[in-house]
Amino acid sequence: MEDSVQVRCTRCKNVFRDRAKRLQNGYSRQCPSCETVLFFDEDSHDPNIKRAMRTARRAREEMRESEGVSARKAAAVPRQYGGRSAPNSRRTEAEDDD
Ligand SMILES: [Zn+2]
Repeated sequence: MEDSVQVRCTRCKNVFRDRAKRLQNGYSRQCPSCETVLFFDEDSHDPNIKRAMRTARRAREEMRESEGVSARKAAAVPRQYGGRSAPNSRRTEAEDDD
């Protein structure tokens, strides 16, 4: 699922990507190319910004719809950092017996 949205800089026309979750009313960020601060608003006078806002909102809706599926998938995959502490603490208890 695509969670990033293409944004075109108002000034230098450079195209970069940002997270759909971030692109909401009131959000602002610098263009990575010319460092102009872009303000994101659905009522922006800039058609580039407006289009990015629309795309981001649609992407967020799609993500919300597919959330159930991905959550189930994530639960099936064992977490890499999850099970490390449990066996360790048990071993410490055993060594404490000394
Ligand atoms: Zn720029």
